[in-house]
Amino acid sequence: MPAKRKDTPHFWAIIDALPIAVLLKDTAKPEIFANQQALQLLGLEPSQQVLSLSDIRHIELTEPDSNEVLGLVQNPLLLALGGSSLHQVVYLNQNQFRVQLESRLIQLSFTLSKSVLIVLKPEQPHDIAAARQSSTHEVSELEEALAFDKLISLISAELINVQPEDLDTHIDDALTALGEFCHADRSYVFLFHDDMTLMSNTHEWVRAGISSHKDHLQNMPEASQPYIWQVLQTEHVFAASDIEQLPAAAALEKQEFRKEDIQSILCSAMYSQGQLIGFVGCDMVARKRAWTNSDIRRLKLVGNMIGNTIQNVNYRLSLKQMQQELLRANRELQELASRDGLTGIANRRHFDLVLQQELNRCARLHLPLGLIMVDIDYFKSYNDSYGHLAGDDALKQVAQQLLQTVKRQGELVARYGGEEFAIIVPGCSKAELCLLLEKLRSRIEQLAIAHSKAPTNQLTISLGASLTEPDKHTSSSELINEADTALYRAKAQGRNQAEVILPAENSRQVSAIKNDN
Ligand code: GH3
Ligand code: MG
Ligand code: MG
Repeated sequence: MPAKRKDTPHFWAIIDALPIAVLLKDTAKPEIFANQQALQLLGLEPSQQVLSLSDIRHIELTEPDSNEVLGLVQNPLLLALGGSSLHQVVYLNQNQFRVQLESRLIQLSFTLSKSVLIVLKPEQPHDIAAARQSSTHEVSELEEALAFDKLISLISAELINVQPEDLDTHIDDALTALGEFCHADRSYVFLFHDDMTLMSNTHEWVRAGISSHKDHLQNMPEASQPYIWQVLQTEHVFAASDIEQLPAAAALEKQEFRKEDIQSILCSAMYSQGQLIGFVGCDMVARKRAWTNSDIRRLKLVGNMIGNTIQNVNYRLSLKQMQQELLRANRELQELASRDGLTGIANRRHFDLVLQQELNRCARLHLPLGLIMVDIDYFKSYNDSYGHLAGDDALKQVAQQLLQTVKRQGELVARYGGEEFAIIVPGCSKAELCLLLEKLRSRIEQLAIAHSKAPTNQLTISLGASLTEPDKHTSSSELINEADTALYRAKAQGRNQAEVILPAENSRQVSAIKNDN
């Protein structure tokens, strides 16, 4: 049941339970309601009670003799929904039902082994009543005009929220409707390229047996059709019932028209945001046609619809693009906000966040958590000897070396401040932690950065680590203090070495990893 019709729930319940198939469409709304019998008859899923025009379009109907699939414009279901008068017999190929369409503007009965009733609520009941009283010819013209308007309004209702990838299908549908209702041999859309110097035939419909020229009408300079452009720009419509009667100024156009066997042509300019973006047109090939006001009105309607849709899709595309750019800028900002400016590794802010996350995670999963504090030895005197810039460079080298050594998922190397670094090592054992500490110490030693004021004559680091089995009461500052204490000991014991504080039942156990040198 369509949710919007809560005001008349009984009405919908009755329609749904009717023993005949019913498709119901309120002209003011895009959705089409199918009752249980209609779903069964059309081979649709129970979840498809509320259909759209494209659902209806995808129900394949074929001519029994030719086995030809009925196109958009001949589709009796669409025509019925468009309010058209129909006198034809077709088959629903899925169930092989013979369908007799009984023509009524307000109500169409499909007579078959079961029946389909399409109920329409016409927008202009007075017009229809008046039309009934006038001559048959006028009635059929009015009915055709109404059917065209309804079909176009169904297509445009779908176009309001069309996805960019479906745009071409909808433009093709609109061109088919235009070509069929204007009794033309071709209908097409030309669009300018972004720089407005070239235009291309982007969409085309051709009647069976009529040649297509789309492929050679690509990337055309405006100067190749100067007359048509001048008329479109000043009068918005270009109508020629006999191309041989066109003035001499249209020599280039005539040449092209003859090549395409065009006898009569009708084009209407298309605008988006007040800018000329191209045109929509129809050709007559098999015979000349004196274009009627209805033809011009239909062409303008389709041109406006396509222009508005292109504008709408472009708006949404640029909005999406803007959103994506904003998201990317935001990600870059976040990334920048978590990096240390000098070394490019994670900064203190990011470290604090990750440490808290890992602490929570390890407490929850009962995993051990290792934290290493690293401090460069005698760094003040390194700066004094080699200058602050050389000091910066040494800091970068140390940072990179630490980063390359700490590789497991979930581990993090950060600049803690000054010449100190902090490393988070979740889920590691005591042995793994000790191994890592020694690896880090020796890798920095292997960098062999000369430091004449250090006892080893090269730049070294001291490391202090804590290994905890955290619970929900453990705080990050506890871990940092323990690692700091261990670091202090490593410094006190001569530097270029590591010290660990391990978890113990009652008291903290201290273990030293001495440098072999
Ligand atoms: P210790 O072995 O006890 O760690 O001695 P130390 O000289 O390394 O310790 P101290 O804390 O006295 O000196 C740290 C020095 O690190 C002081 C400061 O000039 C230097 N430093 C901190 N940040 C930077 C930086 O970004 N660039 C440079 N070049 N030096 C820095
Ligand atoms: Mg320090
Ligand atoms: Mg230091």
